[in-house]
Amino acid sequence: MTTVRGHRQRPISRAEEYLALRNAERSLAAGTRQHEEEVARGTILVRPGTGRVVRLALRNRSGQRVVAGYASGMDGNLTLARALAAALHQAPKGLTWDAPAFGPEGVGHVMQMRRNQRCPQPRADGSIRLGVPGGAAVVDRHSITATTDTGVRVRFALEGLWTTFGVARVADAMLRDLAPEAHHLTYTTEPRGWHLNGTFVSKRGGGRYDGASTAYCSCGWFCMEGDRASARWSAAWHRENPSAYRPA
Ligand SMILES: [Zn+2]
Repeated sequence: MTTVRGHRQRPISRAEEYLALRNAERSLAAGTRQHEEEVARGTILVRPGTGRVVRLALRNRSGQRVVAGYASGMDGNLTLARALAAALHQAPKGLTWDAPAFGPEGVGHVMQMRRNQRCPQPRADGSIRLGVPGGAAVVDRHSITATTDTGVRVRFALEGLWTTFGVARVADAMLRDLAPEAHHLTYTTEPRGWHLNGTFVSKRGGGRYDGASTAYCSCGWFCMEGDRASARWSAAWHRENPSAYRPA
């Protein structure tokens, strides 16, 4: 019998995007000026830029461009299947072409690729930066840019009305593609301790003790436990068994 501890939603399929990128790599290597490929979620366009840059564009199923971007320093290995699948999955589907509706700060709150619960503070220009082992992502009002310590840089300029949640999922996917060493960053929440309706009180003040702690992982996995030691144990268990998950 296998024990499944904790919960993680099944990731969205990225098989088609993966194959499209392998085909694009081949046609770029053969000298094609533009590789265009239709997948179930939309269309992927890849063309060579100058130097080590590859230009990317995504269209939704209505044919509207939702992402214009580039990848540099990848040298023909376009390891971006998660990011493209997430972007086509989360992209706006309607016809509105106003300014993006999301705010970078909100994106920081719902991103999963965080080492702890803290949300990054917006910088002077309103953008946020999330660093993980091996890479970092910067989200501003119109784009997501992910970089790695090895010099890879991927930028998606977002067009149309994107949601905060959608942008967060794409930024997560970009970091997962580019920084594989950061796939499983876990943390546990601090128990509430003695409290009465959420406010801290002593035992004499009629409070109740709440030792519950939840272990969270950057891959989306989480597990609620009765105390923090168990939550830490579960987090360690998950890092050793990262592929065990319960389908949603
Ligand atoms: Zn994980």
